[in-house]
Amino acid sequence: MNAEPPSQYLVDELNQQARAMYCDRSHAARVLAEQACSMAVSIDYHFGYVEGLLNQARAQILQGAYAEAIALMRHSMFLGEEYGYKIHVAECLQEIARAHYVLAEYDTALEYWASCLSASLDAEAHEAYVRAQIGMGQIYFAHDDFQSAYEHHLKAEEGLTALDNDNLKVAVLINLGVDLHRLDRCDEALQPLQQALRMVEQRMHREYEADTYSGIGHIYLTQGRLDDAEQCLLHAWEVNRDHGHLWGEAFNQLLLGKLARARGNEIRALELLLKAQQQAEAIAAAHLQFQIDEQLSYIYEALGQPHEALAAYRAYHRGYLAILRQSSPQKLRMLQMQLEMEKARLENALLRQQRASQHKELKRVEKMACQDALTGVLNRRGIDMQGNQLFMRARDEVKPLVVLMIDIDHFKRVNDQYGHALGDKVLRQVAALIKSGCRQDDLVARYGGEEFLVMLPGRRCADAFDVAERLRGLIGGWSWTRIHPDLTLTISVGIAECGLESTLAPLLDRADRQLYRAKAAGRNRVVMEPELDAAQP
Ligand code: GH3
Ligand code: MG
Ligand code: MG
Repeated sequence: MNAEPPSQYLVDELNQQARAMYCDRSHAARVLAEQACSMAVSIDYHFGYVEGLLNQARAQILQGAYAEAIALMRHSMFLGEEYGYKIHVAECLQEIARAHYVLAEYDTALEYWASCLSASLDAEAHEAYVRAQIGMGQIYFAHDDFQSAYEHHLKAEEGLTALDNDNLKVAVLINLGVDLHRLDRCDEALQPLQQALRMVEQRMHREYEADTYSGIGHIYLTQGRLDDAEQCLLHAWEVNRDHGHLWGEAFNQLLLGKLARARGNEIRALELLLKAQQQAEAIAAAHLQFQIDEQLSYIYEALGQPHEALAAYRAYHRGYLAILRQSSPQKLRMLQMQLEMEKARLENALLRQQRASQHKELKRVEKMACQDALTGVLNRRGIDMQGNQLFMRARDEVKPLVVLMIDIDHFKRVNDQYGHALGDKVLRQVAALIKSGCRQDDLVARYGGEEFLVMLPGRRCADAFDVAERLRGLIGGWSWTRIHPDLTLTISVGIAECGLESTLAPLLDRADRQLYRAKAAGRNRVVMEPELDAAQP
């Protein structure tokens, strides 16, 4: 692959591969992400570079290199901000939060997740949004507030609808199951976990295989189904070991230690718990450490080692308090408020969107209501609305406006001789010809039957006379034989210019009178008002 010359395509490819495999093969993913970065630098491809940094960091987290990973992600995020990669920034915020979460730095994790929620809503980074909701829920979970955890995870589930991401769905299902377990709803809890298990097995979501088995094993342990529990937990442990997922391994050892204790096998339990302790210490997983200490204190007690039991209990107590102190209830409440605000913002955005589409629909219906179905020009209603507006603007701004009243000559004969359907065709063609002879700003409407109204803003009578003559020429000269071999057609036009009228109707009446005069004078002609006629030089 490296024989190919560096290109943006290749960088994207490397990043995609690294992203897809970092859970299963973090070392290989890291190497690919590093390659992506150096290639991106060589061709000055900013996006590939920031993505490469983030992918390296993702792999590092699984390898327990949290400090380096966080530093890389922050760097990637700042660059992303500079270049305006909004979705990338949201993803960085979410990954940084996740790293702090694993380190049991819940306050910091909370802040990052809260920022991630706003950033992801802004950028429509749906995946980051769902992951942030998962994370927030996990923080509540870590504070033994399982109800709130469950509610956040339900929100995450809602967020899934905007995505087509099975991996994430599995993650949400696992969290829902684990929450329900801790809410003492074990039977309900098994449902999402088993659904997750089916997805894991069908689609090889190895990323979540261990978590799914851990979750189910834990429930079995609670239910006293020790053999089933052991099977699941051993499998989860194996998968975690294969993936180099140290946190997962330590967690499985803790649960297996509990299980051995439930079986009364203290020696085995001690062995497992000490291993778990070592591993948790190595990655500074504070949230696991205190739980392990708690179990150890029970074991030492059962083994008749009170000193060790007390020491372990003290360690447990210290660790637990440290975590509880970290995120005070006020902070959680503040966060709650922030979340409510986000929700309101989201709902507002939705409402705005709905209003905009309603507005569009309204406009469409309005337009349709003003349009003549046969010819497509405005109808009477359109004259009432737009014609009136045009008239009032001319009146108020004292600008010229002329109206033409156009009537087809002897149209009744067309209908009588060639039929109504052909008459309709003719009407459509006349409307099209009138339109084609007018300007964009002119208004063309079907006044009734075979009568059309044209309003010419900004023009005086003499000017309008030319327009009318042009229209008469257009219609008289069109090859009507295309519609019927014997067909010919002419129009008569009456013209009136806006004077002292306060409404449109009397102006239309005046134009109508001129039209009548044109008809009386023999049709196929344009007639203006005599007084204005006389005023012409
Ligand atoms: P004039 O030159 O005096 O205007 O004669 P005319 O025959 O055009 O006038 P008249 O008002 O006597 O007849 C108008 C005809 O237009 C009557 C009616 O059948 C026809 N008409 C009105 N609306 C439509 C329509 O939508 N489609 C068709 N095909 N014909 C229509
Ligand atoms: Mg007519
Ligand atoms: Mg008529």
